[in-house]
Amino acid sequence: MIEEVDVRDNVTLADYEQYAQFTVKVRELKQVAAAHVPHLTGRRVWMVNSTSRGGGVAEMMPRLITIFRELGVDARWAVIGADSQDFFGFTKNLHNLIHGAGTATITERDREAYVAVNRENFESFRKLLAPNDVVVIHDPQPMGMGAMIKKTLGNPTVWRCHIGLDDHTEETRTAWYFLEHFANAYDHGVFTAPEYIPSFFAGKASIIHPAIDPTDHKNRSLAVHKISGILHNAELLSTVQPVLTEAFEDPALRLQPDGSYLPANQPEQIGLLYRPIITQISRWDKLKGFQPLLEGFARMKRDITTYANGDERHKRRLEIMRLVLAGPDPGSIQDDPEGLETLGQIEATYRALPPEIQRDIAVLTLPMKSRKINALIVNALQRCATVVVQNSLQEGFGLTATEAMWKAKPVLVSKACGLRQQVRDGLEGQILRRPKHPEFLALALNSMMQKPWQRGEEGRNAQRRVFDAFLIFTQVARWLEVLHNTVLKVNGNGAK
Ligand code: UDP
Repeated sequence: MIEEVDVRDNVTLADYEQYAQFTVKVRELKQVAAAHVPHLTGRRVWMVNSTSRGGGVAEMMPRLITIFRELGVDARWAVIGADSQDFFGFTKNLHNLIHGAGTATITERDREAYVAVNRENFESFRKLLAPNDVVVIHDPQPMGMGAMIKKTLGNPTVWRCHIGLDDHTEETRTAWYFLEHFANAYDHGVFTAPEYIPSFFAGKASIIHPAIDPTDHKNRSLAVHKISGILHNAELLSTVQPVLTEAFEDPALRLQPDGSYLPANQPEQIGLLYRPIITQISRWDKLKGFQPLLEGFARMKRDITTYANGDERHKRRLEIMRLVLAGPDPGSIQDDPEGLETLGQIEATYRALPPEIQRDIAVLTLPMKSRKINALIVNALQRCATVVVQNSLQEGFGLTATEAMWKAKPVLVSKACGLRQQVRDGLEGQILRRPKHPEFLALALNSMMQKPWQRGEEGRNAQRRVFDAFLIFTQVARWLEVLHNTVLKVNGNGAK
C-alpha cells in the first residue's frame, strides 16, 4: 500500500533570507519560480520513494517539499509499501548492480516479485492521483509503478535516479536491461551526472546535482567557542575552561594502539584546534579509500626530511600535522558486515604502525544515535581541517566533499565521477588520478600542505562553487524547470 508522508518542517524562505549571503539566492529562486510555478498550478507534484526514514533521499525530502509548497507548488511525498522479502532482496541487488557490484543474474522470480509489489502500489496510488498530477519516482524500487501510471493513466512522469556508475560492466548492463522496459514509459529522467545516463534516456534526461542545506546542523556556521564546546562534549578535546552544555551521552571514540577504543582525547589530545589536520569522514566502506590514505600519510611521516626538501618551516608543518579518519560508530553498522570488515582492516594497518606515527593518526568512531549530535561533530571536525580528503575509488556524488567545500576547505579528492562533478583540479583543490596508490597520496598531501596561499585560494573557490551550484536553492530551481518542461512536453503549451 502506498502511503502519503505527513511533511512537517517549519522552515520558511524568510529564514534563509535572514542570512545576508542567501538573500540573493532566495530572490533568484523566487524569480525562477515565477516563471515555472504558474504552469504547475492545478496539479499536485508527487515525490515517491521507498522509505520515509534513513538514506539521503528521505533526509532531503521534507525540506524540498516545504520549499516547493512555499513557492506555490502543491508538493506531496508518498512512499511505497511492501512486505515481500523477495522484493527487497531483489531491489537491493538491483541497486548494487547499478554500482557495478552484486549478482549479475535476474531471475523470473525476481521480476515477478518486483512487478507484483509495484502493481499493488499502483492500485492503491491510482486512488489518490488526479489526471493532472505529476509523478516523480525516485530510484529503481518504485520505477515499475511509475511506468504503470504512465501507460494506464497518462500522467506526466519523471524518474529521478540517485545512483550510477561511469562504466559499463556486466552488472550495470544486467540492471539497465531489466529497467529499460519500465524506463521507456517515462517522459523524463533526472540523473546526478551525465556519465550516469543510460542510452535509452538519451534526449529526455536532465542533470540535477545533490545539494546541501547551508543552515542545517552539518553545515551551519559555528562560532569558535561553539566548535570547541562540541569537541569538548564529544571528548575530542579537553579543556579546563567552563563549557555551557553537558557532555554528549556518547563520546567520539578513538582507536588505541592495543586495538581498544577510548574517548578520543586518549592517549593524548589530537590537537584539533591547534595543529594542521588532514581529515576524511565517510562511511567505513572499502570504496571510500581510507586504506591508501592512511598508508600515504604514514609514508609521508616516515620520510619527512625528503618530503620537506630543505624547507625548514614546511618540515615543522609535516612534523606536527595529524590525520583524522572518522566514520560511524560500529554499533550502528552491525547489519553491514562489509563496513565492519573495512574498519577492521584500518584497525590492523594502524596497529602495525610504529608508535610515533600512530600518535599522529586518529581513527575515530562517531556516535550515531542522535542525528543532530552526529551532524554537529562532523561539522566541527570539518571546520578544524586544513585539507579535507575524499579518496573514494567510486563515488556517486560525495556530499562529504560538498560539505567541506562549503566550509571553504581545499579538498583532495579522487577522480571518481561524483567528485569530478564538484572539483576542478587546481581550482577547488587537487584531483588524484591514482587513489589506490599511497605514494601519490603522500605526494599530493605534501604538495597541498606546502602551499598555504594556494590552499586559501582553493578553499575560497570551493566555497564559491558550492554557493553557485550545490546549495538547496539551485536544486529546487532545477526541479521547477524540469517539472514545467515535463508538463509542457505531455500537455503542450496552453493545457493545464
Ligand atoms: N556522515 C556522517 N557521519 C559519519 C560519516 C558520514 O554524518 O560518521 C555523512 C557525511 O557527512 C555525508 C554523508 O554521511 O553527509 C555521506 O554522503 P556521501 O554522499 O559523501 O557518501 P555516501 O555515504 O552516500 O556514499
